[in-house]
Amino acid sequence: MPAALGYAAHAAKAPLAPFKFERREPGPHDVQIEIQYCGVCHSDLHQVRDEWGGGMFPMVPGHEIVGRVVKVGAHVKGFKEGDLAGVGCMVDSCRTCASCGEGLEQYCEKGFTGTYNAKDKAGNITYGGYSNNIVVDEAFTLRISPKLDLASTAPLLCAGITTWSPLRHWNVRRGQKVGVVGLGGLGHMAVKFAHSFGARVVLFTTSPGKAEDARRLGADEVVVSKEKAQMKPHVRSFDFILDTVSAPHDLNAFLNLVKRDGHMTLVGVPPEPPMLNVGNLIFQRRQLGGSLIGGIKETQEMLDYCAEHGIVSDIEKIPMQKIDEAYDRMLKSDVKYRFVIDMATLKA
Ligand code: NAP
Ligand code: ZN
Ligand code: ZN
Repeated sequence: MPAALGYAAHAAKAPLAPFKFERREPGPHDVQIEIQYCGVCHSDLHQVRDEWGGGMFPMVPGHEIVGRVVKVGAHVKGFKEGDLAGVGCMVDSCRTCASCGEGLEQYCEKGFTGTYNAKDKAGNITYGGYSNNIVVDEAFTLRISPKLDLASTAPLLCAGITTWSPLRHWNVRRGQKVGVVGLGGLGHMAVKFAHSFGARVVLFTTSPGKAEDARRLGADEVVVSKEKAQMKPHVRSFDFILDTVSAPHDLNAFLNLVKRDGHMTLVGVPPEPPMLNVGNLIFQRRQLGGSLIGGIKETQEMLDYCAEHGIVSDIEKIPMQKIDEAYDRMLKSDVKYRFVIDMATLKA
């Protein structure tokens, strides 16, 4: 079985430390990837600190994985040795339910297998991308274009697809006014995509210092959400708002900005439940929803669109050893706009 070296949280809230383990022997449908870069998602932080519960330790996080194929099973059709490849948040699903049949593996009725902190069909705990290699069924492996900078492509595997999927599902388009709440990993991709789809984009932030960046990334307007006077002119004006915030915050202030029959969709997952003023929904018949990552087919479509349009994430590369510092900075909203671990540093 391939030996692997990674960084793991050995207990909830413990700092990450080196961890040796084994990957499964690549089966006939498997691809073995030597990982070159892995993005750092706020979900990694929520999970290593067990903020959502159900953490299995030692936990090797990481679900924004890119690298090169080093081995393929006998029946693998889509990949060969030397190809670039990516892995996102899922490594398997039941493949037979209605959701899987529609290419919506993230909503698998039996539950998809997460890239880490999950149990695979054989009952083994999955370990993620903060490691030097991974073995994944080709059905859950993505093709990565050599046209794009590889490190900056890694965050597309979660931050990219998680924002692409709701923007597409709710058909965000030219002529619409679209809000993005929070300029972090997810938020900055949402701004890029909504702008690319032709919408007028308003970025809501708690960090006034991010305004200039937000405009460069594609926002037409920036609103500091704590300033009531800046929020007021936007009441009942949005077709769609995407909320990417990772911490508890007031949803009502944003719902109020949605116009009649408009949508607000949550992708951020704060650990505590929000307070909701129902009046904000029933007046103006507003709809509040949620969205989870995206299916494999849709993820490939997003990656192909990004390659065609030159869209990648804005990143700060870090060595593996600086991961806890990166988490602390993430909690202070001090990320521009995604940390990506250079896996070559794992050996150092
Ligand atoms: P991130 O890079 O840390 O960005 C979160 C942003 O939220 C911050 O940059 C900040 O933006 C804003 N924020 C932070 N604390 C806030 C507060 N107390 N009040 C208001 N705004 C605050 O995180 P991320 O990786 O983008 O992930 C965001 C959330 O999405 C996390 O909860 C993550 O678990 C979740 N997620 C969900 C899915 C899904 O499938 N639905 C997939 C991936 C991640 P400003 O500085 O601009 O205010
Ligand atoms: Zn993620
Ligand atoms: Zn299924």
